[in-house]
Amino acid sequence: MRIDDPQILAALPDLGIELRAGASMTEQTSLGIGGTTDLLRIRRQEHLPELIRLLNGGGIPHRFLGGGTNLLILDGELPWVMLQLVRAQPDVRLEGNFAYVDCAADLGRTVTFCAKNDLGGMEGLIGVPGTVGGALRMNAGAYGTQIGSYVREVQVYRAGDGGIQTLRGSEINFEYRHTSFAPDDIMLSVKLELPSKPFREILQGIRICNEKRRASQPLNQKSAGCIFKNPPGASAGRMIDELGLKSHRVGDARVSERHANFFVNDGQARAADMLGLIADVRQRVHRAFGFELEEEVIVWKG
Ligand SMILES: Cc1cc2nc3c(=O)[nH]c(=O)nc-3n(C[C@H](O)[C@H](O)[C@H](O)COP(=O)(O)OP(=O)(O)OC[C@H]3O[C@@H](n4cnc5c(N)ncnc54)[C@H](O)[C@@H]3O)c2cc1C
Repeated sequence: MRIDDPQILAALPDLGIELRAGASMTEQTSLGIGGTTDLLRIRRQEHLPELIRLLNGGGIPHRFLGGGTNLLILDGELPWVMLQLVRAQPDVRLEGNFAYVDCAADLGRTVTFCAKNDLGGMEGLIGVPGTVGGALRMNAGAYGTQIGSYVREVQVYRAGDGGIQTLRGSEINFEYRHTSFAPDDIMLSVKLELPSKPFREILQGIRICNEKRRASQPLNQKSAGCIFKNPPGASAGRMIDELGLKSHRVGDARVSERHANFFVNDGQARAADMLGLIADVRQRVHRAFGFELEEEVIVWKG
């Protein structure tokens, strides 16, 4: 979708918003799949309400992009524009055991920065790519750690109320790859409370998690991490593996040989290929094991 309303276009520079016209989502997502649309990069969070007001007034639908590492987006000209926060400088501020983090911050760099200041707890999240905002939305987790455990406050733009407000951690439900944020909430910054730990000890934990990841995941290929959530008491990857589906493909979309719950883009995969592979694998798992696998990757079809 292209913004052609002259009033909106004229207002963007004053709001500190950078317009990247016709941005390709193949470059914005770790899967390397997706169509094109106008991308609006927000430098000053306080202007977000005014931007949304303008877009709503112009009848322009929008979606929010973090690091694009958990997204499968349809091909072609997209029927919405994309909004994205630009990282503040600095993006993490520490006060005792509290870390105040901008939601555009890179999650891995945040974990490392806190570690260097003897604040631990998030070692398991070290290899999770993407932004802190995306991690909050997804309640990103790995190796027994989930970001939600450390959240004390989140500043959000709440479309329903049209304003920016602060939610207490206790008001938010963090579940397995699911949170109680409203679908159109935009997370702006977060206050985390992290346990004190010597850097050396945290580093050891980080190294162990990195090794586990390197040994089990196709990190040099285009993917969105796990495609399916694990059903209670079962492993989606193990079921797919047991069906002999590693390397199974639809077009250039392929089940990874390294990790059966990672689906990779082997070159020129289109959204339809990936969706076809997802549907096929889901059906086979259902037939064989009786589980209806639910996607972990967020699919934007339209
Ligand atoms: C190699 C690889 C390994 C991975 N391993 C893991 C893992 O171990 N554990 C895990 O949990 N995930 C994993 N993932 C998935 C992914 O990295 C996480 O879900 C990550 O937290 C997504 O963050 P993002 O910024 O890229 O979000 P995006 O993919 O850009 O967006 C995901 C969702 O969050 C929303 N969103 C993003 N930012 C905001 C914001 N500021 N406000 C409101 N909504 C927002 C988007 O609208 C979208 O709905 C992996 C992915 C890859 C490619």
